[in-house]
Amino acid sequence: MNYNVDEKGYYGEFGGAFIPEMLYPNVENLRQQYLKVMADPTFIAEFDQLLKDYVGRPSPLYFAKRLSEKYNTKIYLKREDLNHTGAHKVNNTIGQILMAKRLGKTRIIAETGAGQHGVATATVCALMGMACIVYMGEIDIARQAPNVARMKMLGAEVRPALSGSRTLKDATNEAIRDWINNPVDTHYIIGSAIGPHPYPDMVTRFQSIISEEIKWQLKEKEGKENPHYVVACIGGGSNAAGTFYHFLHEKEVGIIAVEAAGKGVDTGESAATSVLGKEGIIHGCKTLLMQTQDGQITEPYSISAGLDYPGVGPMHAHLYKTGRAEFIAVTDDQAMQAGMQLSKLEGIIPAIESSHAFAVLETKNFKPDDVVVINLSGRGDKDLGTYIDYFKL
Ligand SMILES: *Cc1c(COP(=O)(O)O)cnc(C)c1O
Repeated sequence: MNYNVDEKGYYGEFGGAFIPEMLYPNVENLRQQYLKVMADPTFIAEFDQLLKDYVGRPSPLYFAKRLSEKYNTKIYLKREDLNHTGAHKVNNTIGQILMAKRLGKTRIIAETGAGQHGVATATVCALMGMACIVYMGEIDIARQAPNVARMKMLGAEVRPALSGSRTLKDATNEAIRDWINNPVDTHYIIGSAIGPHPYPDMVTRFQSIISEEIKWQLKEKEGKENPHYVVACIGGGSNAAGTFYHFLHEKEVGIIAVEAAGKGVDTGESAATSVLGKEGIIHGCKTLLMQTQDGQITEPYSISAGLDYPGVGPMHAHLYKTGRAEFIAVTDDQAMQAGMQLSKLEGIIPAIESSHAFAVLETKNFKPDDVVVINLSGRGDKDLGTYIDYFKL
């Protein structure tokens, strides 16, 4: 079984590039160039150096002693929370801005929901001196004021999406419209392992630095490269794709993907796509998607803004369909408790997205000798308001 993308841009039956005719030249140019560019030694050198000196990689692989004692298993945390800007998203935006430069682009557009991807994009645009326009739903602009301020400080223009539900999907539509109108000078930086081929594969490859590092770090600490399990939360699926990538074809490594169940899978307020989703097309690819009987996309819900997405990337849809990965849905309450516990036991306040991955420790029994690597995708500073409200701190 192959879990990587095939030549046609598919993972099994999922993936592809379902795009308006007018975007075809852009996407096709990217498809023809991306692997060549990523294999170029000068590109690799520049990417590696920025990851080291600007992002602060390698991120540590930390043995969580007290958490391990509590669950009677060996738990390691991959510390993506320690990256510059506080999460894994910057791995992808650094890669894509270098790609944009190689393709001769001078202007960057992005969509953002909670603002995290917008901030990561605005950051690398400041770094490279590139024009940056971030589309964001009007409702999200009001809800995520600190991230809007960050983007402005970083020199980005934040353009409100005023149509529809005025949230992420409307921002995405605006970004696509912009790209159609500016096909020559503009690169569209998509923020997760989603979108038309080659985006899911390109984003996955940029994020795969996570599992590449886990391998040699685990070899140093445990004497072997492969853990028994890797665990990551899934919104669109980029931190999970990066965490899983180098283990996909290692049969002895169990893969656990954690989705946001919101208030509960059956409550109508959920974002557990593997359970609730059916095949459909979103953001230019065929994947699992939460939708009504007649194919309208359903509004997802999660307490965590980064997991509040109605689909999953096509690679994950394939991992689910083939049974290669185990999918577990975790409620808001379970995630919040897990986040509080990690803070108390290890002195690490996780992003609420990442807290979902930690909640798995309560629902799944690992053996004492199991080595479990959990990807700590981001830090909790941005979520302090939510923690305060929830726990009445
Ligand atoms: C955006 C975000 C996620 C979800 O996005 P993926 O593409 O699924 O990784 C998870 N964790 C953090 C900290 C995020 O900012």
